[in-house]
Amino acid sequence: MEHLSVKNAQKIILESVAVLDAESVKLEQTLGRVLAEDIYANRDIPPYDVSAMDGYAVRSADIKQVTATLEITEDIKAGDMPTRTVRAGQCARIMTGAPMPDGADAVMRVEDTQSLSEHSVQINRSAKSGHDVRMRGESMRKDEVVLIAGTEITPGVIGVLATVKGAQVKVYRHPRVAILSTGNELEDIDEPVDLDKIPNSNSYALMAQVQALGIEPALLGIARDDPAELEEYLQRGLRFDVLLVSGGTSVGVHDYVRPTIEALGVKMKFWRVAMKPGHPVAFGLSQQNTKGSAKDTFIFGLPGNPVSSMVCFEQFVAPALRSMMGHARLYRRTIAARLTHDVKHQPGRTDFIRVTLAKREGGYEATATGAQGSGMLLSMARADGLMVVPAESTGLAAGEQVTVQLLDGTVFQEDAGFRE
Ligand code: AMP
Ligand code: MG
Repeated sequence: MEHLSVKNAQKIILESVAVLDAESVKLEQTLGRVLAEDIYANRDIPPYDVSAMDGYAVRSADIKQVTATLEITEDIKAGDMPTRTVRAGQCARIMTGAPMPDGADAVMRVEDTQSLSEHSVQINRSAKSGHDVRMRGESMRKDEVVLIAGTEITPGVIGVLATVKGAQVKVYRHPRVAILSTGNELEDIDEPVDLDKIPNSNSYALMAQVQALGIEPALLGIARDDPAELEEYLQRGLRFDVLLVSGGTSVGVHDYVRPTIEALGVKMKFWRVAMKPGHPVAFGLSQQNTKGSAKDTFIFGLPGNPVSSMVCFEQFVAPALRSMMGHARLYRRTIAARLTHDVKHQPGRTDFIRVTLAKREGGYEATATGAQGSGMLLSMARADGLMVVPAESTGLAAGEQVTVQLLDGTVFQEDAGFRE
């Protein structure tokens, strides 16, 4: 247990959590959610052969020899229906998206023609049958599956859903997340400044990390280091799908989280992970079963140190929440970068160094954001990413290639992307 690796801890978590149930949501509210149903086309798109250009609907046989002069039978705008059949020697003026008239099998764009009069046009190029015609059903065919369950809803997906009239969409439910900070020393944001106290930053940094995943968490406030008070707060937290507890998870005499949580019947899967920052990080389920169900509460005991809390959130909580929301890509995107300086490292734990990135000829450069103490929140505030120092490393040298987990952005990937 003492040497549980980050990857194995992630594995334990992801084997425990399960995707939540589906709910029906208005299309306008679905951006970033995950489809919980297959989506079928309800009609052919386009519904008939249409012109892909502003120009002339012609018979390709008539323009084998060019130039050719054709008689214009009518004007067809988008939304109009053609009224005349195009016969030999004829064409129709047509706009993009308008239905092709009978008889015509190609479109010649305006730029390749010359208007002779209102009723005749000279065609300067020849074209094969089908040229610049969008065929009926070429975008979507009625009754075919156009989107499968598990698809992340992007603006493009919203466009497809609107096309098939998906005004209400089945998506996976978002987890309800509660955040609890613990510690006698903490002063909350609305309390008067007492210079002997430590400002509660974790509740808010964690709140923002949850919000960045599209979830609005509930802030439960601060529980004092007192078993009875802690129990009361924890019980409230156990009504949520996910409870994040900050602080009190180490082994100090006033770290009551562990005994209180276990007294409440929470089955803990681990209490430490071989990482820095973030060593005392815990995970468990509120029910005795080992398989996740929608009724379970998943509890993350996050270290009180502000940087540790945030780094642990990124490694463990974010993938779990994304998995519960039905995403296939659970992890923040990683990129390769070159280190601009040496980094000391004792083998044994995976280190997450906060870095800024600079784009240079040939790739990115990573530079640590100053002092890296686990209480130094500015190291996190200034960071573009977390650089991973593998557990077995005996130190990194300037110029070495490293893996950096990007902290911003909405693009996620399927695996953690780094070697421990
Ligand atoms: P703990 O994990 O409870 O032993 O706390 C470790 C360190 O993190 C202590 O220095 C705490 O004061 C600090 N800490 C704990 N909780 C918070 C919080 N919510 N916001 C800021 N710092 C905290
Ligand atoms: Mg504490």
